[in-house]
Amino acid sequence: MNCRLCPRDCGADRALVTGVCGMPWSVKIGRACRHIWEEPPISGTRGSGTIFFSGCSLKCAYCQNYALSRGQGREISVRELADVFKLLEDSGAHNINLVTATHYACAILRAMEIYRPSIPVVFNCGGYESERTILLLKDIVDIWLPDYKYALSAPAERYSRAPDYPERALQALQCMRSLAPEDDFDADGIMQKGMIIRHLVLPGNLQNTFAVLDSTVKHFGKDVYFSLMGQYYPAGEAKRFPELSSPIKPLEYKIALSHAEKLGMQNAFIQLPEKNESKYTPVFDGSVSGEVYE
Ligand code: SF4
Repeated sequence: MNCRLCPRDCGADRALVTGVCGMPWSVKIGRACRHIWEEPPISGTRGSGTIFFSGCSLKCAYCQNYALSRGQGREISVRELADVFKLLEDSGAHNINLVTATHYACAILRAMEIYRPSIPVVFNCGGYESERTILLLKDIVDIWLPDYKYALSAPAERYSRAPDYPERALQALQCMRSLAPEDDFDADGIMQKGMIIRHLVLPGNLQNTFAVLDSTVKHFGKDVYFSLMGQYYPAGEAKRFPELSSPIKPLEYKIALSHAEKLGMQNAFIQLPEKNESKYTPVFDGSVSGEVYE
């Protein structure tokens, strides 16, 4: 069967070869654990039951989970994946958080047939998604957590070799919003349904950040939940690009935040730049645990 799950649309027969995402049909995961570094309505007090899937169709040069996106991890069966859902749910996680899972959409649907968690399911993705795949997942996903990495084509081409990212991501986010038009929270403020858009501020790329913020407010309104992330550190191949070779400066983040404020964004999560940005990146040793990763 030829895969067309993502906008790369490469048509690889993943039983025989791998496509741009670098993964066969069999599922590979880098780690499963409870994760406390997501936004407060996702991580809550008990952590988000996070499954980091290996491989990625976007493969940004600076990927903050570089080893994972390049395929590091351990192969598991669909049955085992269903068991991971149950383990995380039983551990007290607030939700099941599927990280970069687009290329495993079919396996995830099969695993959900074996075990459907009763806690919300979060689809945590790079934003470069096809509407067809989003619609495939509509009955199992409660919360959409897409990146909106680029609203300008030049950085999308330069860092991710995806010049069509801005239009594909906007279409994808609009599709997600149509499937989850309301943001619902429980009594403890934990999201049950809805969408949170994420943007990682890249050093030397404030024009792109401004364009993302402008587009977000234009298309999704001032009260959309939005996470302005300042955790960037020069991972992976970032050193190939002089402007990406150091963490973002506190002033750059401040300017980005001022732009969000000027636009009147009501529900922005803020993450100030820190010295130890890599602390947010787990070790991708294929382990599965209901423990909190700190
Ligand atoms: S998910 Fe992978 S194999 Fe499928 S179209 Fe995208 S890059 Fe190609």
